[in-house]
Amino acid sequence: MGLTQMGCIEVVCGSMFSGKTEELMRRLKRAQYAKQKIQVFKPVIDQRYSTDHVQSHDANKILSTPVKTAKEILDRVDDNTRIVGIDEAQFFDDYIVEVAQKLAYRGTRVICAGLDLDFKGQPFGPMPLLLAVAESVTKLSAVCVVCGAPATRSQRLVAQTETIPAENDSNFKEGQVLVGAHDYYEARCRICHEPNAIMTSQPGLFPNQMKSQIQNSSKQNNKNLAEIG
Ligand SMILES: [Zn+2]
Repeated sequence: MGLTQMGCIEVVCGSMFSGKTEELMRRLKRAQYAKQKIQVFKPVIDQRYSTDHVQSHDANKILSTPVKTAKEILDRVDDNTRIVGIDEAQFFDDYIVEVAQKLAYRGTRVICAGLDLDFKGQPFGPMPLLLAVAESVTKLSAVCVVCGAPATRSQRLVAQTETIPAENDSNFKEGQVLVGAHDYYEARCRICHEPNAIMTSQPGLFPNQMKSQIQNSSKQNNKNLAEIG
């Protein structure tokens, strides 16, 4: 290949609390030390974390660009970017696979991080497809809070509808709902995971209704840079 970089797709997946974003950050920071230009994208829904990260004490933050659709990533990648990081990849539409493939064929190293399974233990969004086309797959585990074994599942602890205030609730704040959502799950192993413990008609860790609520409320922030890590 000479001086031309060979493109590739790497996927970092696992349950909640398994350190996916940390691993993504570690790889991106290494690239930064090597003076390679990086860009990081995440779905708009992940605005929920931005408040957290602004307040965190981590001095080594990496700026990420919130995007509404997978296609938007292609529009926003600069010509001289060598590495593209995609966080919370499970929330993107299936077109994310084509985006990753196009970038990789162009010579870009694409690193995707995301939940491989939803709270029911079912493959999450485009993740199975991404895993299939990736050159490298890293599956991380958390620790089961019940028995201490390696945890591969995310257990939902409460019904979403009982804990998320309505959009017209005067106490409704985007950050509250989103940051709080993280507290409604815990890591569990296959044996301790109870996929049917909470009955809900909406699949996915973050039901579509909630997703659109969040996307609507964060439209104004779309062009702002958020931070991860
Ligand atoms: Zn367990």
